[in-house]
Amino acid sequence: MSQQKKEKPKIIDHRHCVICGKAIPPDEQVCSPDCREKLELSKEREKKSKRMMLIIYVIMIVALIILFVLGPA
Ligand SMILES: [Zn+2]
Repeated sequence: MSQQKKEKPKIIDHRHCVICGKAIPPDEQVCSPDCREKLELSKEREKKSKRMMLIIYVIMIVALIILFVLGPA
């Protein structure tokens, strides 16, 4: 009786390009300067949209307070 251990192929430590999903070395975030540019752009857009969300929240809260204070008495 022989027990054969089937060794699973080791998955080499790697990451995926956050833009296109290509396998890349673990110390990289993107696969190419092209994808880096896209990443920077999307980060910038995310920052802007987060700021917009914050402004909308503040406006909504202020509007709610105004409605509450000046609401039908
Ligand atoms: Zn890529």
